[in-house]
Amino acid sequence: MAPMTSVDPADLSLTQTEVGGGDSVAGPERGGTDLPRFADLTTMGVGGTIRRLVAAHGRGEVIDVVRRADADGLPLCVIGGGSNIVAGDDIFDGVVVRDLSRRVDVVSRTDDAVVLRVDAGMMWDDLVGLSVERGLAGIEGLSGVPGTVGASVVQNIGAYGQSVSSSVCRVEAWDRPSGRVVVLTPSELRFGYRTSALKTSMYAAPAVPATHFFPTPRYVVLSVDLALESGGIGTVGYGQLAHALGTEVGDRLPVREIRAAVLRVRATKGMLEDPHRYAIPVMAGMRDRSAVDAALEDMRRETGSDAQDADRHSCGSFFMNPVLSAAQAGGLPDDAPRFPVDADGLGNGDGHARVKTSAAWLIDHAGFHRGFRLSPDAPAALSSRHTLALTNRGGARAADVAALATAVRDGVRGAFGVTLVPEPVLVGIGLD
Ligand SMILES: Cc1cc2nc3c(=O)[nH]c(=O)nc-3n(C[C@H](O)[C@H](O)[C@H](O)COP(=O)(O)OP(=O)(O)OC[C@H]3O[C@@H](n4cnc5c(N)ncnc54)[C@H](O)[C@@H]3O)c2cc1C
Repeated sequence: MAPMTSVDPADLSLTQTEVGGGDSVAGPERGGTDLPRFADLTTMGVGGTIRRLVAAHGRGEVIDVVRRADADGLPLCVIGGGSNIVAGDDIFDGVVVRDLSRRVDVVSRTDDAVVLRVDAGMMWDDLVGLSVERGLAGIEGLSGVPGTVGASVVQNIGAYGQSVSSSVCRVEAWDRPSGRVVVLTPSELRFGYRTSALKTSMYAAPAVPATHFFPTPRYVVLSVDLALESGGIGTVGYGQLAHALGTEVGDRLPVREIRAAVLRVRATKGMLEDPHRYAIPVMAGMRDRSAVDAALEDMRRETGSDAQDADRHSCGSFFMNPVLSAAQAGGLPDDAPRFPVDADGLGNGDGHARVKTSAAWLIDHAGFHRGFRLSPDAPAALSSRHTLALTNRGGARAADVAALATAVRDGVRGAFGVTLVPEPVLVGIGLD
């Protein structure tokens, strides 16, 4: 493959500079009365005020903010789309930084493949839309996953038979303890099911924050290289998607059709981000405007109105699907779903020995059905369309979400002896 300098990026280069925010969005210098809130920056719509929120234009500014926060010993949270963060109700007495860089470059191109280098701040679905438009395959199944490219590699986003780890060939990151920019290879990233070396750097054990580097990993992602196939044809990788397309798993179809089908299926499950969130000033300009308009138009067409979706405030799946030993899986009821996986929770089990089950099935069969809430007027509830999504029905506080999550986790543990692990990063709050 040709090195980046000799490649003509002619028809595949995008630089978006018109992003909202400005430099210091808010801070103590603004008097403390109008501090920004995690509730406005996260899809769950809960969370207290933030001492200082900085919008960084480019890697130099990101590194500078991170370095200074670390040197001053301040809590640091690098935030992307806030779609995998549940923040507590108390003030976050530290620095929250958002990377506004959105550049996509061609690193190399052959007849059948293209490598893209994408800034961490680029919104993931804007990248998928752009790639699909240019006939690139490999991430179309991840259409509609909210958030940024930088965060996509932290938990190795996955959906409909694809994981970002299958396309990632290189990550550039700021290594906080050494104070250097480092390049991480796929083997160094140690991707697994909803995990990576970036994510494990934040945890001492599953769901137990590490003393250092929480709620943001040791490595702050600056850019991600993705290798995608040319030719405009992708592979249907998941049964439900195949059904929606009237085809079979493994069939090859145009990536545009696959993306459209994924977005339709996600909409029926309430698993799309609420596009209305980009209307509030602190979120304005974060996503490509035409993508937001298209999403609003789709919603209108489907519901026949401008009414907002009651399931809209969530983090998507709240719990990860448990990956069990064969012995643990043997203890589940006969009709519990069982998928053979490799030791990393991915693959098809050829690498042996683990069994993934469905958290949604366990939750439902432990008696927590769609729409479940702890009391009739509780402001947090399971989604009306998906037992795995915990939702803020309006006016919920983080404590309400945590109480619901604790009840679900304990109920599943009582019924099946399996302890569910939350997928979102819980900042300043835990489950009892
Ligand atoms: C409706 C809905 C549906 C979803 N569906 C899916 C799905 O199908 N599959 C899936 O895998 N996930 C899904 N998610 C979860 C979420 O979209 C992903 O986890 C996403 O990658 C989070 O991106 P973000 O930018 O919003 O991260 P944030 O929530 O902003 O941050 C999450 C974590 O990443 C860290 N982080 C952010 N940027 C960087 C960076 N540059 N460097 C280092 N660390 C960073 C943060 O510090 C934090 O620890 C869904 C969420 C919602 C709301």
